[in-house]
Formats: sequence, C-alpha cells, structure tokens
Amino acid sequence: MLRSRFYRQFLAAFAIVFLALSSASHAQNSAGPQAVPLPPPVPAPVDQPYAGTLSLSVDLTNVNDRVLSVRETIPVKPGPMILLYPQWLPGNHSPSNSVQNLAGLVITADGKRIPWLRDRVNMWAFHVDVPKGATTLDLSFQFLAPIRPQQGRISTKIADLTWNSVLLYPAGYFSRRIQFAPELKLPEGWKFATALEVKSQEGNLVQFKDVPLNTLIDSPLYAGINYRRIDLSTGTDNQVYLDVFADKPEQLEITPDELRFHKNLVVQAQKLFQSRHYDHYDFLFSLSDTVGGKGLEHHQSSEDGTRANYFTDWAAGVSGRALLPHEYTHSWNGKFRRPADLWTANFNEPMRNDLLWVYEGLTDYYGNVLTARSGMRTLEQARDEIAGIAASFEASPGRTWRSLEDTTNQPIISAHFMAPEFWPSWQRSFDYYPESDLVWLDADTKIRELSGGRKSLDDFAKLFFSIDNGSYVTVTYTLEDLVKALNAVQPYDWDEFFRKRIYQVEPQVPEDGITRGGYRLVYNDTEPDWMKHVDHSRGTGFSTSIGFSVSGEGGPGGGDSPREMITNVIWDSAAFKAGVTPEMQLQAVNDQAFSVENLRAAILAAEKNNAPIRLLLKRENEFNTINVDYHGGLRYPHLERVESVPDRLDEILTPVQ
Ligand SMILES: [Zn+2]
Repeated sequence: MLRSRFYRQFLAAFAIVFLALSSASHAQNSAGPQAVPLPPPVPAPVDQPYAGTLSLSVDLTNVNDRVLSVRETIPVKPGPMILLYPQWLPGNHSPSNSVQNLAGLVITADGKRIPWLRDRVNMWAFHVDVPKGATTLDLSFQFLAPIRPQQGRISTKIADLTWNSVLLYPAGYFSRRIQFAPELKLPEGWKFATALEVKSQEGNLVQFKDVPLNTLIDSPLYAGINYRRIDLSTGTDNQVYLDVFADKPEQLEITPDELRFHKNLVVQAQKLFQSRHYDHYDFLFSLSDTVGGKGLEHHQSSEDGTRANYFTDWAAGVSGRALLPHEYTHSWNGKFRRPADLWTANFNEPMRNDLLWVYEGLTDYYGNVLTARSGMRTLEQARDEIAGIAASFEASPGRTWRSLEDTTNQPIISAHFMAPEFWPSWQRSFDYYPESDLVWLDADTKIRELSGGRKSLDDFAKLFFSIDNGSYVTVTYTLEDLVKALNAVQPYDWDEFFRKRIYQVEPQVPEDGITRGGYRLVYNDTEPDWMKHVDHSRGTGFSTSIGFSVSGEGGPGGGDSPREMITNVIWDSAAFKAGVTPEMQLQAVNDQAFSVENLRAAILAAEKNNAPIRLLLKRENEFNTINVDYHGGLRYPHLERVESVPDRLDEILTPVQ
C-alpha cells in the first residue's frame, strides 16, 4: 500500500537521525532486530527561560471554510527538539485539545524543508532534528475548525480564537517561561475583544504585546461583524466589560433591566469576594444560533456563548442564566485559587481532578447565589433551580454505586471516549457540578446555624479568595488548606463532613441544606409560571415523572438529533422498566401523534385511572408499542416553606446591601 510504504521510508529516515541519541537510554527497550529505535522521550518541563521570543501569526480571514492559517517562528539551537501541541486545557480539565484538527504542518530551516515525526506514544508531540547552523524554525500549518453548525465556534459572523488551537511550543520549559509575540489578521470590517494588550493595529492586522505562553492561552479572542462593548465597571479600580458578538445587529440590544442585572453581578461579586484578580475583566460573549454555546473560565476573561435571543427574549433563558455568574466566579475560584493537583507547569502535563467538587462545585454554588443576588433569577426561580437539582438526584440511582469524588474523573474519561453516555442517571457523569451545589448549600446553612447567623460561606469567600488582592498569580491549595479555612470561619468536623458526602458512596441525597434553609422538597402537577416561557426548542424533560426527556427542534448538544428523540431515560424509572431506551423516537402517545402537550395530558389522565400510557416508539426500522404503567402525575419539583425553621435559604439568595 502506498501510504504505509511511504510512512516506512519516513520512519527509516528518522531512524538514522535518532539512532545516535537513542543508543544509550533506549538500548534496553529494543525488542529485536526489526524494531525501529524510539525517539527520545518528552522531557518534563523545567522552570527555566526559553531563549528568544516565538512569533506567531494567525490568519483568520478564511471564515467561510472555517480554516485558520498559522505561521510560527521558533528560535532554536541545532540538535533534536520536541514541539508540543497543547493537550491538557485548563478549565476543560482533560486531554481534549483536538490535535486531529491540526493539518498541513510544514517545518523549514533556512528555507529548507526538514522532516518531523510524531511521537509513537504521545500524539501531541512532534520530534524534529534542527540542522547545524540553523537559528530558527519556520512552521506553517492550519487549524481546521468544525464546519457543522453548533459543533464549532467559527462562523461567517463570529469567531472564537483559542490560541491553544494555533500554536506549537518547545517541550522542556514551564509555559510561563516561553515568550510569544502574537499577531492576528482579521476578516475585513471585523471587530475583536480579548484580555491581551494591543501593541499596534494597522487596518485588519493586529499585533499584541509580548506575552508568556500561559497568559496567551489564558487570553482567547472573540471577533465578529456585529459587536457591542457594554461597560459593567464599578469604578476605575474595577473595570469589567461585556463584549457581545451576535449573529445579527438587533440581538445586541440590551434593556435597562438586563443592564442593571449584569451590573449588579459585578457589584455582588465584589461584596462576596472583596477582591479582584485581574487588571480588567472581559466577558467574551457570543449570542448565536450558528456557533455552539460555551462557558470557559480565564483569569481576566471568560469565553461565554449562548442562544442568539439572550437579550431579546430574556424570559426564555432562566435555566441557562447562571452562565456569566459561574464563569466570573472562576476568576477567583479556579483561576486565582486552584487545587494543587490541577496546576500544571505546561499544557501537556496531566491534571488530577479530585478537587473539582471545589473548583467547579463551589463555583456552581456561588454562581447560582450570584445569579439570584444580581436579580438575574427571582427568588422563586432560584429556589426552583435548587428543587430541580435535588429532584434529579432523587430520581437518579447512580449514587448507590459511585462516589461524588469519582465523578471528578469524568472529564478525562469522556476525553478518551468521545461517544455519548446513554445512561447518565446511572453513570453519574458530571454530577460533581450539581450535586456539589447541594453539598455547599449544606455547608453554608451549617455555618449559619452553628454561628447563630453571624457567619456564612460569604465569610469563607472573603477569607479564602481575597488574599493577594490585585494579583492574578495562581495560589494553589489542598483539601487540608480548605478544611483549615472553613474551621477558621466556623469550627466543625469539616473533614468528616466532606468524607461522608464526597468521598464515600452515599445513597442519601444531600438535602440537609434545603431543610436547614427552611424548606422541604415537594412535587405536584403545577408547572412554575416562569417555566412556561422557557425555551423548549432543545428538549423537554419528564425525568422526575415518567422518566425520560425528549429532544426538540434544536436537539441536544448540537442540533443533529432528530426531533422527538428520547435523549435520556432515567435508570429504574417507569419508562425504563417498560423497555424505553435512549435513541428511540417517540411517534405517538395513546394513539395520538406525539407532542409535548399530548404527553403531558396523558400523564395527567393516567393519574386518575389504572390504564398504562401507550407509547409508539421507533428504533432504527422497528416500531415498538410500549405500555408504561405510570400513575404518579407530572411531579414538578418545588420548595415548600417550613415555618418552624429560619428562612436561611432566602437570606443566602437575597442581595448583600
Ligand atoms: Zn466551571
């Protein structure tokens, strides 16, 4: 075969190059006379400066093809070296940077093409042998962004430029010791926003000030044709901006109420954390039905993306409303203060995720609290959100086999197996987000109870995150540091508290925070008013009742699932027991064509009689009629006030004066 023959010739060429190098350290690895010598292993990063500045030039003009063209010049010394494509991305907590989208890699020295060899074990590492006399390597390659709508982050109107997609860097150095001089060519007429500082701009060519690699990758750039910058600053000492890019100009319009809520977010975050860890902060925010949604934290910015009608149909977005509060919270929790095992010296060292229940879980909690305190959700909506989380865990039995701590491995597991999970209620997947909300509510109300209302998790926020005010140099912590800080706020056996709730298999849903907050979880047939306005185009959930969700026009996670697809079947639910599985298409309910309304009516009718709900389902080319023996009603979860207990929950959700 042509391809394999060519590849073998190529390997033979490399065998000669690396023969001398590998003789000593790798001789013992030789399996026999047929074996091709291994290239040298990827060296561990060392805290030493890389000599010279790498120049990086990215051409973003070909948005039609979603192709980014890159030229990079790397100062070098003669001899073998390894170039790395970033693999482990902070915030993704996983080895997920798509090296398969890197193409067209050509490396030259003094105008002469030199070969490269991908490492046999590490697909993100490229071996080169720098020829004698060469002082720089010139690289050219492309990043091929996804073309299918919703999967990618580049369209003909909006682009999210992640620098980790468009660079290679030398192995063996801490990323903060490698200097880059980045440059970007934009499509004609496009605007941009980034936390990077601009050195010069000439037409559509922008040069940025030199920046270390870790700051460069932490400072993505949004660009687009329809752009508006909204000032959310609380003063010259706290500059925060909402940089909005939209499919259409009219989607940039913000109402006075919406503006007030977003300004409140910055005010309430200051009251909570009493510090800032950025020079200025930019919410990079895409409103689009073409590029996919996103939420990724950085020190001085965040990549945020949601539906195009975020401002123009505010009422439809209650469930996704915590996006900006969550990512903003990460500037303190996750970026500035980070679990020691999640801090890595470069972008190819593995991360260890065991404290994600703090990094992500506590961020989710504070994010939801700030969403309520800023007015982005009403008190009722904020309580319903908590009720929904608790109810989903009451319905899902995954907690009977898997600890919450084990779910923190999920980003790494999912990165290895890009296939969808079919039984999330049993597999538990990313439960360390929502379940940690309940655990931290438990902790917050515990502190409030024990201190007689004098202390709260707000005091912990101040103690833990306000150190080194103004600095954005990461300060790491361990579980011991966390427990110590909580004890300084309110003495308690926090070690045991977390051991029970996080580290051991604990079937009991952690609802003590709701109880101590002055509420109890109840279910009834009454749909909350706000939920009637929610955008159901992506699907409708019946997970706390009959036991599944159905996709809408948008489909789940990218719009490529057919409408009426069963997307999630709750393990051990009535639908599960009757034989309904994910990926079936719901065609009819009680012999009527399926609609969300028909299904709702059938569930209500079944509450009053003994007849099963009859579903006609299609899987591949088979039609199945499945009778689901379910008579429990719609079971919308709500929190009901318990007057004998202080209303600590509303106290938590109310704005701080
Ligand atoms: Zn997060």
